[in-house]
Amino acid sequence: MTDTTRTLCPYCGVGCGLDVSPPAQPGKAIHRDSQGNPIWKVKGDRNHPSSQGMVCVKGATIAESIDKNRLRYPMLRDSLDQPFRRVSWDEALTHIVSRMRSLCATQGADAICMYGSGQMQTEDYYVAQKLLKGCLGTNNFDSNSRLCMSSAVAGYVQSLGADGPPCCYEDLDLTDCAFIIGSNAAECHPIVFNRLQKHHKKNHNVKMIVVDPRRTPTAEVADLHLAIHPGTDIDLLNGIAHLLLHWGYFESEFVSECTANFPAFAEVISHYPPDVVARRCGISVEDLETSARYWGTSKRVLSLWSMGVNQSTEGTAKVRGIINLHLMTGQIGKPGCGPFSLTGQPNAMGGRESGGLCNLLPGYRHVQNAQERAEVEKFWGIPAGRISSNWGRTAWDMITGLETGDVGLLWIVATNPAVSLPDVKRAQAALLRSPFTVYQDAYYPTETAAYAHVLLPAAQWGEKTGTMTNSERVVTLCQAFRPPVGEAKPDWEIIAEVGRRLGFTDKFPFANSAEVYAEYVQLTRDRPCDMTGLSHARLAQGPIQWPYPDEAKQEKLAESLHTVTVSVKRLYTNLRFATPDGRARFSAYHSRGLAEPPDAEYPFVLTNGRLYGHWHTQTRTGRIEKIKQMHPQPFLEIHPRDAAKLKIQENDLVEVRSRRGKAHFPAKVTKAIAPGTLFIPMHWGALWGDETEANALTHPERDPDSHQPELKACAVQLIPAALK
Ligand code: SF4
Repeated sequence: MTDTTRTLCPYCGVGCGLDVSPPAQPGKAIHRDSQGNPIWKVKGDRNHPSSQGMVCVKGATIAESIDKNRLRYPMLRDSLDQPFRRVSWDEALTHIVSRMRSLCATQGADAICMYGSGQMQTEDYYVAQKLLKGCLGTNNFDSNSRLCMSSAVAGYVQSLGADGPPCCYEDLDLTDCAFIIGSNAAECHPIVFNRLQKHHKKNHNVKMIVVDPRRTPTAEVADLHLAIHPGTDIDLLNGIAHLLLHWGYFESEFVSECTANFPAFAEVISHYPPDVVARRCGISVEDLETSARYWGTSKRVLSLWSMGVNQSTEGTAKVRGIINLHLMTGQIGKPGCGPFSLTGQPNAMGGRESGGLCNLLPGYRHVQNAQERAEVEKFWGIPAGRISSNWGRTAWDMITGLETGDVGLLWIVATNPAVSLPDVKRAQAALLRSPFTVYQDAYYPTETAAYAHVLLPAAQWGEKTGTMTNSERVVTLCQAFRPPVGEAKPDWEIIAEVGRRLGFTDKFPFANSAEVYAEYVQLTRDRPCDMTGLSHARLAQGPIQWPYPDEAKQEKLAESLHTVTVSVKRLYTNLRFATPDGRARFSAYHSRGLAEPPDAEYPFVLTNGRLYGHWHTQTRTGRIEKIKQMHPQPFLEIHPRDAAKLKIQENDLVEVRSRRGKAHFPAKVTKAIAPGTLFIPMHWGALWGDETEANALTHPERDPDSHQPELKACAVQLIPAALK
């Protein structure tokens, strides 16, 4: 292959398009890394509608990781204290299939779990759902989106009737006021933020509000930074709503015609007067009023949020609290406004669409809905009642299932839970007890590989063709530009082969990923995420935003709208929502605060987050020189007042202890963090340092609706090294 290939950046949910060229260009020397590997040339794809040629440092340097630390062959061992030995694919898969058969016979299919990732392409996700939920009859497929976006999913479904961000990136250029809450977009979604910042800089009337306990690079450029106490987001959202209603910034016609449950919401927010809210949040009444005034006087408010909202025991309520503000002001379904969640992973959206959580089925269906289960069973040609009506095990439930012995086989795909799960020491201890763990990944070593009995080499970014959906519902065909290394295979192929060996031959007839996709999109027919007009061939011409129904339906829709083309940039433009009666639902919810508030013994709230250059657990970015130099080590941000009290100076090594574990970090004394709150980055696992794991400290308490753990906050104490 010699031509430039169009594909997608495999890091964050912004979903920037990339053009990749081979290392050897006619007449030019081959560019190589320090290990002698040829480096592919990567630049932004100017024709990609979401990113228009822009990339951040992660996307720009991605090619450097492609040959480093790759898992090339299947490996096997009988117990964790033995070394791995190289085996054939046949031996590895025979071993896995025999364990699955024997578990199904002894403990039942619910003893089998697969834990996937937003790094999987939609085709990988789909085949996994068909095997686990359709063929085996267990809903035990969950993905790391449970830790990332599941509160956004639950919030959208409960308030608007269906998942799916209703906005698009063009709204970043059109908004009058960006309300950014729980998101350090400048570092974590840089290309989205650059676009917003450009608009903000150019238009002096455009306001930017940032809600974050930390003065992040995002907060630095805001007109108003609300450094609220961690866990007081609901107080703030209800407090803004209280003022909007009191001041008359309220779209009564929209509320009465397009929404439900407003009276209950109005009753709740009556308990959030400005003085009470300001005190609870730790901000001034003046700042609270300014934020409400920005909301009320702007015609187009665009809310952007991410992990700071979702990773909470109140994550769903927070998402719904944001949507409440849009409903009461009628700011939804129109250009420049709306509630817009920023997805973490490159294909978290594709996972949601294809049913990649333990409560979902393909096409935005739910396992608890009998009709939706029946539709999928019929489509898959499996017996009625095969798909369980119960949630499967969530990510954390897989860990507790290992503890109790109810999980007998854990198959992990493209993720690194030995770093990324909360209360990670407990998770690691459970992984040690796992009777049989399959780890399917592109990289080796990783922290999780140490807990595996079988390693399966996966083709990665650039070595397989499949689709991914970004935060604004744009689907991109990620085309392979080179063959897989060693004996690596695409994830979907491995999972389908296991399915065939288990006897479900007719369910996995696919010759390539285009055939997988062609089957999958049929399950989206007439669903909110209808993609029946999409195919690999169609997407090879360029990325497309969904919904994108087949031609016949598009024509019908265009006719009914008296238009030639159907615009799908925004959802709910007709102000009818996906609920049975077409009305969006206000939520009425009182703040409960943090699951683990600070106390006399553990007086600080520890929060954590991401740095500009690194991605998650550093499986790729930890091997890229430029990024390593940008972020050589983790650190602990502490306010000067707290540092002075504990006699901590810049760069002093500090021990951080929670009820679950401890870690050590050099201190960074800074006013960027509020007194009483601490910040650490979350990227460092056991491979990268001694006792620098953020999740040794976090707890697994979770949201009752989304089951997303409260990774963002826990109570800790500090022990300066000098006092140890
Ligand atoms: Fe990749 Fe996200 Fe950076 Fe875009 S913003 S280049 S998708 S990491």
